[in-house]
Amino acid sequence: MAHDPNCIFCKIISGEIPSAKVYENEDVYAFLDISQNTKGHTLVIPKEHTKDIYDLTPDTAANLFRAVPRIATAVRDAFDPIGLNLLNNNGEFAGQSVFHYHIHILPRYGKGDGFG
Ligand code: 5GP
Ligand code: ZN
Repeated sequence: MAHDPNCIFCKIISGEIPSAKVYENEDVYAFLDISQNTKGHTLVIPKEHTKDIYDLTPDTAANLFRAVPRIATAVRDAFDPIGLNLLNNNGEFAGQSVFHYHIHILPRYGKGDGFG
């Protein structure tokens, strides 16, 4: 499993940086975003260090996306939003600030909920 010792999300996976775990399996880790744009804002990441969508292999993508519906369901059941956005930023211009591939799960609660 590729691991970048300088990557903040690799450090989260290894436990070097603490995080609030939402879900984990052999290939995937999900945790609460430190900056909660909306309540329950969760990040889903592959354990394999992967920079962005262009670096994501079909196998890593398949393992990651296989877990997304159950993580989204857990977030829905825990936070009871009225909707939910999935978001993935690629490249600085598009808003990517951490270069370890991640999907944002953003629960939505209505106008003025902090997103959109
Ligand atoms: P991006 O801007 O790359 O799409 O998203 C990166 C996300 O990672 C941001 O929403 C930011 O709040 C979150 N983040 C950055 N550092 C940490 C951290 O150390 N812990 C957690 N839980 N989230 C982080
Ligand atoms: Zn990484």
